[in-house]
Amino acid sequence: MSPMYIVMLGPPGAGKGTQAKKLAQELGLVHVSTGDLFRENLKNETELGQLAQQYMNAGELVPDDVTVAMVKERFARPDCEKGAVLDGFPRTPAQAEALDQLLETFDSEVTVVPLIKVPDEILVERLSGRWMSPSGRVYHEKYNPPVVKWIDDIDGSELYQREDDKPGTVRRRIDVYNEQTAPLIDYYREKGLLAEIDGTQPIEDVFAAIMASVEEV
Ligand code: ADP
Ligand code: ADP
Repeated sequence: MSPMYIVMLGPPGAGKGTQAKKLAQELGLVHVSTGDLFRENLKNETELGQLAQQYMNAGELVPDDVTVAMVKERFARPDCEKGAVLDGFPRTPAQAEALDQLLETFDSEVTVVPLIKVPDEILVERLSGRWMSPSGRVYHEKYNPPVVKWIDDIDGSELYQREDDKPGTVRRRIDVYNEQTAPLIDYYREKGLLAEIDGTQPIEDVFAAIMASVEEV
């Protein structure tokens, strides 16, 4: 079987990260989240992290050249040769074209693009209740609570709320999605790769719908 490259598409808070982790585990693929990569750089105070921080805190996108360079570097690691679940990338038409070119160098291409659809009112509630573990696991105070409040189930570390999950920034991120990322819906639809998923269902039902779309490929 040729490697699968699955692109998770959807607005902030739709459940891309939650589903990408489950998919990667189920299919034995790596999970590549550009948001996680930027946050790692922020934590380690790298030059890239310092550059990205101002954009992330404002809810804006990090410039394409910087983002694409970071993804290329990630793809240079051999674990990506077997395929990947891409979460939060591409987010602009220029990034989508860069991804197509990058996969071409692997003699490969995007396999399927699940679009997780969730109305804006629900997104705000999901993001304001999102609790993250330092290693990137995602919880929700109401919809996916940890066993012990504010404590990661797996390694016991303390959970935190993202700076950019505050209501003002959330609204800007949703606008940025509509302006800059939503054009990718047509881009992938025209290629016959889009699979529309109702993201308002419980996590397990969304997962089943995504798995069905992957198995149809
Ligand atoms: P994204 O990566 O698209 O921003 P996340 O996977 O981080 O989204 O999910 C956003 C928040 O919503 C998290 O707190 C997560 O636990 C919660 N969540 C994810 N999927 C669902 C769902 N189907 N129903 C209810 N809450 C969900
Ligand atoms: P979300 O939960 O909203 O999907 P992410 O964790 O994917 O958020 O991204 C957080 C922030 O990191 C974004 O608001 C943006 O500033 C930056 N970022 C992540 N991925 C990209 C990308 N592909 N292009 C530009 N900026 C990105």
